[in-house]
Amino acid sequence: MVAVDGEGVARSHRGMGLVADIFGEPALAGLQGDVAIGHTRYSTAGSSVLANAQPILAGYREGPLALAHNGNLTNAGSLRSDLVAKGSIFQTSSDSEVLIHLIARSEAREPEDQLLDALERVEGAYSLVVTIGRTLYAIVDARGFRPLWLGKLGDGHVVTSETCALDLIGATPVREIGPGEFLRIQGADVDRLPSLPAKPHKRCIFDSSNAMALGYAEQAGLKLEHALIRNHYVGRTFINPTQAGRNAKVKIKFNPVREVLEGKKVVVVDDSLVRGTTSRGLVQMIRAAGAAEVHFRLASAPITGPCYYGIDTPTKGELIAATHSLEEIRRHLGVDSLGYLSLDGMRRAAGGDSAEFCDACFSGDYPTTTPDETAREREPVSTIAV
Ligand code: SF4
Repeated sequence: MVAVDGEGVARSHRGMGLVADIFGEPALAGLQGDVAIGHTRYSTAGSSVLANAQPILAGYREGPLALAHNGNLTNAGSLRSDLVAKGSIFQTSSDSEVLIHLIARSEAREPEDQLLDALERVEGAYSLVVTIGRTLYAIVDARGFRPLWLGKLGDGHVVTSETCALDLIGATPVREIGPGEFLRIQGADVDRLPSLPAKPHKRCIFDSSNAMALGYAEQAGLKLEHALIRNHYVGRTFINPTQAGRNAKVKIKFNPVREVLEGKKVVVVDDSLVRGTTSRGLVQMIRAAGAAEVHFRLASAPITGPCYYGIDTPTKGELIAATHSLEEIRRHLGVDSLGYLSLDGMRRAAGGDSAEFCDACFSGDYPTTTPDETAREREPVSTIAV
């Protein structure tokens, strides 16, 4: 987190691990001020280092500048090479730092124009919160890949990736910040600055598995039961940078309920299948708890390409559906049957105008130029809680 006090002094506290472990009372007491941004970050092998933790805080001609980024910039590699050639020194390997350098190098006079200058040069997905001095900016890229919400708490405002964060602190949701929106928040005032140049909207089509399981059970006339109890005190398996770590965490994270599973034909509904390792572990666990049959249903189409917009999917070679047939995947998971939702079914389930959704990792139809896969910096994803 970075907090800016009444004198415009910015203080930061960053750490590796779970939020609750990093931000105890002493850390929070050191973060004085009434303007603050925070960030939690997924990590992948090779980049799980403190230097890459956000918000990035830099000294800048208009005062301290802090930036937290949810998403991924697809042209960060080439921009970074250009900047390095011109003498920029990078402190991190994160794509987001490119933005800081572009802002600092802009020749525009006003900080807002410098921000716009920088944003005009980057491609990809970004929901951003930025503080410059005591002013907070909230910005969503013109395609709107990732969400960002505005909420109200007392006289102040809160910006967050997910509305559940607003509920948690007793803030009231005001509205979603739309694609291309650029907001300036100063004290109780929220000003809408001119939007970024318009592009076709491309919200990420991913949804949540619980809703899918409910829908599947309703439609199939089956009883929905929670046969795996999740231990919320273990971090998300997805975040763990190594495969060995992921495998161990599956076991710690889920407890099968033998009373529910024993002798039953079980249909497991999940939102997606990436590498297949976690699901394979779950299936073994369900069988060991006495299930007679295990059927696997995916609430998405097969993932056949990486996401370049902030979901940390692996390279194409590691995506099970990119390299294996349906029958091979079924055997790998060890299930009696396997079924995916079709891409068309997914689009219909998302509702609205399907052209307004990004479904690139399923369809291969990427809405931006993509970084060369070999040169791709597997820089991760993040959520913002402010
Ligand atoms: Fe979402 Fe896939 Fe598009 Fe990434 S590529 S934004 S995960 S639909």
